[in-house]
Amino acid sequence: MPSANDDPVQRLRAAGLRITTPRLEVLRALTQGPSHIGADRIAAAVRARTGSISAQTVYNVVASLIAAGLVRRIEPAGGPSLYELRVGDNHHHIVCRRCDAIADVDCAVGDTPCLTAANDSGYEIDEAEVIYWGRCPACVAAAAVSSGEGSRTRSVRQQPGETAREPEQPGSRAMSH
Ligand SMILES: [Zn+2]
Ligand SMILES: [Zn+2]
Repeated sequence: MPSANDDPVQRLRAAGLRITTPRLEVLRALTQGPSHIGADRIAAAVRARTGSISAQTVYNVVASLIAAGLVRRIEPAGGPSLYELRVGDNHHHIVCRRCDAIADVDCAVGDTPCLTAANDSGYEIDEAEVIYWGRCPACVAAAAVSSGEGSRTRSVRQQPGETAREPEQPGSRAMSH
């Protein structure tokens, strides 16, 4: 994780951006919050510190930070855009279908191999956005604990009521008790 360049002032200077309070505060929110957060959470964090910032200002600031290469936007299908400070490495993301938890996934082989498309159709490619979907460890654990959630097929077959009724049905093979 970046450590030397965590200071928002230095980040803005290095990117050649004018230092303004909204830019500093948005960068602070991105530094301190979860590694991938939406505009509403950024706005809430900034408001908690400075009193007020409009949603439009947040969007404008984020857009300028993206244009300067300080922030990356990712757009998981069906959810709001998320923003992060980890830029320039074309890393991927894995999203939990149940709770929307999100984690970084490094490129599988070396540097941005996904930029080398098997067939680029003549396009000049500068980014590959890969999103893996699945369930986070917490949701997998929760599903394993709650009996009904894990596998519907299995839970229906193993319902105690059905097992009890089975011997009454004519022709059904009753298990030995
Ligand atoms: Zn989850
Ligand atoms: Zn990320």
